[in-house]
Amino acid sequence: SKRVAVLTSGGDAPGMNACIRAIVIACETKGYTLIGYLHGYNGLLNQEYETLSLNATHNLIQQGGTILHSARCEAFKSHQGAKDAAKNLQALGIDTLIVIGGDGSFKGAQHLSTCWDGQILGIPGTIDNDVAGCDATVGYYTAIDTAVSSIDKVRDTADAFERIFLVEVMGRHAGFLALNAALASAADYVIVPERFDNEQQELERIINQIEARRKLKGPVSFIVVVAENVWPGGLNTLAERLSSHMQSEVRPVTLGHVQRGGSPVSQDRLLATKLGTYAVGLVGTEKTLIMIGEVDHHPVEVPLKETWAYTKPLDECSVETMLATMNQRY
Ligand code: ADP
Repeated sequence: SKRVAVLTSGGDAPGMNACIRAIVIACETKGYTLIGYLHGYNGLLNQEYETLSLNATHNLIQQGGTILHSARCEAFKSHQGAKDAAKNLQALGIDTLIVIGGDGSFKGAQHLSTCWDGQILGIPGTIDNDVAGCDATVGYYTAIDTAVSSIDKVRDTADAFERIFLVEVMGRHAGFLALNAALASAADYVIVPERFDNEQQELERIINQIEARRKLKGPVSFIVVVAENVWPGGLNTLAERLSSHMQSEVRPVTLGHVQRGGSPVSQDRLLATKLGTYAVGLVGTEKTLIMIGEVDHHPVEVPLKETWAYTKPLDECSVETMLATMNQRY
């Protein structure tokens, strides 16, 4: 009978628990032993783990975060780190390691394979959706919802005071979250790294939009969604520049870590459950160093190396739709 280990690594994301739950159930069904390493790759280095059985799955699917805890781990990146991790996996007789995380965690998994010849499977889990080879990562849909409900609230007060608000949304170096949260909350403007020209041009476009609206309707509220790490100098710099041009207050709001938390929406639960179950189905096959993702509602197996080989493009249809609404003078 196979011995399987699972860990969650990097930024936590809603739905990681749903994925762990699916893996526990699939392993029970197959008669595999399952352990969960704690704190990402730290658990591998410190041989810190717990046995996972059906008891662990009670009330789990709806919980945010991850019961295995997540972490970053600098020590694991060295050759010695991979060697120590391999030794610990061998000591426990692990056949298959499942890593739930982002592309950094997948690089870590690839790095481990230089010292360990067991089977390695990845499942994409991050709110940023910045993993190539899959339509969506576990946690992404929930994060859009969280950002949208926050932007809705900002809009209430923006409308009441006819103010300009800048709302910073997470995404590391990708604009998926910002773009789709902006679209779903009917924000007035979005700034994403994939389409960022330069500061002056963006600033002019925003000012033109606001002025055109003011001409038409008098005082208006205006919400600009800004992806993190895009604007040089950060959100406050943009707020200062904009407010000096507009002769009105511009309020910066950073949504921050609330976007990583919360109970996963159904889309994330379903994705996590399907991917976790599919991964366990591959245990014991020759397939290794692959990510299990979903494309067009079908499971796909993608070499880990391809998940960071290129920058995943934004969904073109969302881009076009947002651009069309941004150019409206309503
Ligand atoms: P994410 O998985 O969310 O992208 P990180 O980029 O923080 O998160 O990576 C998580 C962990 O994966 C790191 O703390 C490190 O232990 C491991 N890791 C990341 N990149 C590498 C790499 N190039 N080589 C080895 N391990 C890595």
